[in-house]
Amino acid sequence: MSFLQLNDLAKHFGDFTAVDGLSLSVEKGEFLSLLGPSGCGKTTTLQMVAGFVEPSRGRIVCDGKDITQLRPEKRGMGVVFQSYALFPHMTVADNLGFGLEMRGVPRAERKRRVGETLDLVRLTGLGDRYPKALSGGQRQRVALARALAIRPEVLLLDEPMSNLDAKLREEMHIELRAIQRQLGITTILVTHDQVEAMTMSDRVAVMYGGRIVQLDTPFEAYERPQSAFASTFLGRTNTVPGTVVKANGRCCEVDLAGVRMNVPHLGKSYDGKVDIYLRPERIRVVEPGSGIAGQVANRVFLGNHWMLEVDSVLGRLRVSQPNGGTVPPAEGTAVGLTWADDDVRLLHTEAPHGR
Ligand code: ATP
Repeated sequence: MSFLQLNDLAKHFGDFTAVDGLSLSVEKGEFLSLLGPSGCGKTTTLQMVAGFVEPSRGRIVCDGKDITQLRPEKRGMGVVFQSYALFPHMTVADNLGFGLEMRGVPRAERKRRVGETLDLVRLTGLGDRYPKALSGGQRQRVALARALAIRPEVLLLDEPMSNLDAKLREEMHIELRAIQRQLGITTILVTHDQVEAMTMSDRVAVMYGGRIVQLDTPFEAYERPQSAFASTFLGRTNTVPGTVVKANGRCCEVDLAGVRMNVPHLGKSYDGKVDIYLRPERIRVVEPGSGIAGQVANRVFLGNHWMLEVDSVLGRLRVSQPNGGTVPPAEGTAVGLTWADDDVRLLHTEAPHGR
């Protein structure tokens, strides 16, 4: 049995359904992210796991025990919020020791654990500082340390890095992941940042409208999205509408604005209106006359890669090219575009996403 199980969890606020029958199993030591746009129910789900929000329906089971009705402080979970919520009038050490004191841990043991946890998050020697005398990154680590000091069975993180600048956030992703692995602590992270989710997670639960629409490893979710929403939410992609002309053993022949293309159907059956999805990094720019004809409309340098927008019979396509030390064709230049059949994904056309 999985360590943490959410069974058919739902939360209604009046007539509004924030979480809509969500089931999820998290393994011991796993790092799982709830990833989705604002309002899709991530925080509400996490708050139900933490015990701060009472579910309208469903059960939460942790380590074989039904904890659905258990008070938050009895659940043995460490929680870190976006706002850190450190106690400003307490030193770092007192912030960390607070939860331990509440749990009746004796003073000497408290001191030892606070020191140990500060070492873990690389804040050794800063125990006497007050939060206002710390940088954003250091405060974030104190918040993490405070959650870890109680040695929780489960760590719940709600957008804990959204107040940090991009570089610091990237560093924290790696650091947090290393700490999580070292402690083997079962972790759920709430984020709308797909890079954050992909960098740290064993699995990603992509959420939309109060439900999980895909649960996979980051690689699988990116490579084989199962819905238009997952395709466009995880990384950038080109979407081109088309019509299935015929299907054979491995591929569908799809008509895209008069261009016929063979697209692998991965064993599913497709007919009628479809959308094909093509990642910008899978498109290659070649000499005009080869592949699909196009003209460069925009060219942007992004350091490690170039982003081109190319007008073609399939519409405006985004093309990402790694920076290999040469400058790609300028705006206005005629080019050809090619890709491998296997790089194209196919899904039935869906209604536009509402909420
Ligand atoms: P964000 O990334 O913006 O935090 P989220 O995916 O975490 O979004 P939730 O905070 O779980 O989303 O909210 C889901 C929906 O439930 C939202 O539409 C929100 O307005 C609504 N909601 C959350 N809490 C309440 C509440 N106490 N009363 C009424 N509606 C609420």
